[in-house]
Amino acid sequence: MNSPKSNPTDAYSMILDAIDVGTYRPGDRLVESELAERLGMSRTPVREALQRLETQSLLARDGRSLIVASLDHNQLSELYVVRSELEGLAARLAARHATEEEVRVLREMVETDNALVDQPAALARANRRFHKQIHLASHNRYLVQQLDLVYRTMALMTTSSLAVEGRGEIAQAEHDQIVKAIEARDPETADDTLRSHISVAFVTRLKRDAARREEEG
Ligand SMILES: [Zn+2]
Repeated sequence: MNSPKSNPTDAYSMILDAIDVGTYRPGDRLVESELAERLGMSRTPVREALQRLETQSLLARDGRSLIVASLDHNQLSELYVVRSELEGLAARLAARHATEEEVRVLREMVETDNALVDQPAALARANRRFHKQIHLASHNRYLVQQLDLVYRTMALMTTSSLAVEGRGEIAQAEHDQIVKAIEARDPETADDTLRSHISVAFVTRLKRDAARREEEG
C-alpha cells in the first residue's frame, strides 16, 4: 500500500503540503527566496515547484507576486460534484475488488479514528488516509489519479468541514456505514453511502460559510 505524502522531501510536495495544512492560506504571497531558505533548498527547485503549482492553478498571479489561489463558490460546487461521482465510483469498485486485507485496514481505520473526533486537525488527516485507502481499494489506477487531482485542489479549502461542531462524530458514523457496505460486498450501498457522506460534508461547509459571511457582514 502507498503511504501518501507522509514525509515529502521535494520542493513541490513540501509546498503543497504547507498549503494543505494551512501554513500558507489562499491569498498568501509565496516568495521564491523565502521558500528556498525555509525549505533549506536552492532557488532552482523551488522556482520549478512554484511554476508547476501555478500551471496546476494552485497558485495565481497578483500583479508580479505569486499567491495561493482561492476557490470561489462556483469552483467549490463544481469540485464537489466531481468528487462525489468519483468517490462513489471508488466505493462501488472497492466493494467489488478490495482484498480481505484492504477491507480489514478500512475497518481498523474507522475504529482508530473514532478516538480523534474531538481533534479536528488530526481527524482531517485521518479522514484523508481513510478516503485514500478506499481509492486504492478500487484497484483502478486511473480513478486513483483523478481523485489525487481532486484532493490536490481540495488543499485550497482553508478548513475542513470536520472542524464544525459535532460533524466529526457524524462523519465517523458515516465512515462506519461505508465500510459495512464494502464488507458486505454491496456496490450499490457503498456508492450511495459514500455519495451521501460527501453531500453532507458539502452542506456542512456551505452552512458554515454562510454563518461566517453573516458574522463578517
Ligand atoms: Zn470522510
